[in-house]
Amino acid sequence: MRAMVLEAPGQALSFRNLPEPGIGQGQVLIRVQACAVCRTDLHLLDGELADIPYPVIPGHQVVGTVVESLADALPAGRRVGVPWLGYTCGRCRYCRDGLENLCDRAGFTGYTRPGGYAEYLAADARYCFPVDKAASATDTAPLLCGGLIGFRALGMCTGAEHIGLYGFGSAAHILAQIIRYQDRSFYAFTRPNDRDAIASARSLGAAWAGSSERMPPRELDAAIVFAPVGALVPAALRAVRKGGVVVCGGIHMSPIPEFPYELLWGERQVRSVANLTREDGRAFLRLAARVPVAAMTEVFPLTAANEALERLRSGRITGSAVLSVAS
Ligand SMILES: [Zn+2]
Ligand SMILES: [Zn+2]
Repeated sequence: MRAMVLEAPGQALSFRNLPEPGIGQGQVLIRVQACAVCRTDLHLLDGELADIPYPVIPGHQVVGTVVESLADALPAGRRVGVPWLGYTCGRCRYCRDGLENLCDRAGFTGYTRPGGYAEYLAADARYCFPVDKAASATDTAPLLCGGLIGFRALGMCTGAEHIGLYGFGSAAHILAQIIRYQDRSFYAFTRPNDRDAIASARSLGAAWAGSSERMPPRELDAAIVFAPVGALVPAALRAVRKGGVVVCGGIHMSPIPEFPYELLWGERQVRSVANLTREDGRAFLRLAARVPVAAMTEVFPLTAANEALERLRSGRITGSAVLSVAS
């Protein structure tokens, strides 16, 4: 099968012809149709995640069709989505407490397990989500991480009416549609002078959109920081009211600069959101179908994965970058 492989830190992905993966009990073999590109894939390329098992096939927002199954509940022919959470132990304290996103022995698609930048993917059937046969693969793929992580982060903004989104890319433009559907307001903070991101935020109904160096026109109840930039944490705290929360949605962030305690004073909170639970996934995909969420996508062939990643890195993607692997 054709695959894009990361062989060492700091390298571009290499195109390789690999044998199709075999499957074990409880697994399915999936023919990949599309795989969306996530900022986490850039952190993987840059060696910013712990214990990367080189060589690794990235990609954790996969839509495809089951072509072979060793799992009764998921027979061949089904359309599925494969997210970042690829395995949990079911036994550690986090799994037992309903926090499988924090599992001590979790496996992650496109990181500790092979991902979807390839024609075929073996996955544990218990962590796949059903995807409607009529849905577009490239439009659905970005929901599987960007959408899901945004949704989990939004769940931590309890009671917030006015929500700041710092970094207006894949996750934020999907979450913006959920926030508007729920009759709440979002404020989009972009890189300075990022006209495309500001225009896309306005087209989705932003109450305000502008540079992250600016203050919004009103106090926010909560803010979600998607950009991997630590300096945005004190910036977001400054914009959030007493009792408000700043949620960090990325897996990696540059160091957070020192800031005066008064920014945190007033029972403001800073917290992170990590991974997803399967319940998050089911709830989010039901909601996304009801809204309905429409991801803005820029589609690349599998072999152009490096170009898609570099465009994401330099802020030249509006919405979500998606690799189209097969029709
Ligand atoms: Zn566990
Ligand atoms: Zn992701």
